[in-house]
Amino acid sequence: MRRKLVIGNWKMNGNRAANAALLAGIVSGLKDVNDRADCAVCVPAPYLAQCEQELNATAVAWGGQDLSIHASGAYTGEVAASMLTDFGSKYVLVGHSERRAYHGETNELVAQKAVVALAAGLVPVICVGETLEDREAGNTETVICAQLQAALEVIPAEQLSNVVLAYEPVWAIGTGKTATPQMAQEAHYFLRGCVARKSEQVAARIQILYGGSMKPDNAVELLAQADIDGGLIGGAALKAADFLAIIHA
Ligand code: PGA
Repeated sequence: MRRKLVIGNWKMNGNRAANAALLAGIVSGLKDVNDRADCAVCVPAPYLAQCEQELNATAVAWGGQDLSIHASGAYTGEVAASMLTDFGSKYVLVGHSERRAYHGETNELVAQKAVVALAAGLVPVICVGETLEDREAGNTETVICAQLQAALEVIPAEQLSNVVLAYEPVWAIGTGKTATPQMAQEAHYFLRGCVARKSEQVAARIQILYGGSMKPDNAVELLAQADIDGGLIGGAALKAADFLAIIHA
């Protein structure tokens, strides 16, 4: 059985006071949750130190939202994998659709970022997803397969078990439009099949999260699907009660 995993993607939100309240709320609400699910928050880099301080020795892990492919040096504005691990990060998002759209990240760059993350001991959460245009043109599977394939080509099979995938249809992110549980399940099943072509064992174990307007009121049905192993939560991760409700789901 795959464990469920719920990750909050704070995006570019937060300040020290609000984060302190949010993190305390999550930690106290988790106390009576049994241990069927893992949870984490991926925060803006300046708040990693705050996460390390507030989440150390709790059941909530933390991580970054992006990383550089370079180890160090003259790369103004970038964050190295070693800086994420320096603050105790476990996860890092790679290839979120906002990075792909606003920073021109290609499938190949995203794949390289996953490799760099793995080498540093981080768990990369590789995000894939189609635009509305892709879906309407019947290209969903071609697009998400190409996004995943670029990563599968460069990650050795034995390291794939340290990878998490996230299926996030771009048209569902922050829009309030969620993929139906059936649509999401179909895409997750398809992605698991793509992984199986590389390793059936890994395909059976790899966690595939759904992201895109997951909320307390649709989480139960989404998370009940056979191939949906958790959620990557944006908006609803900014309120402790909503994030906890999804974890409890
Ligand atoms: P959303 O964002 O839950 O606000 O749709 C999800 C994401 O972009 O990771």
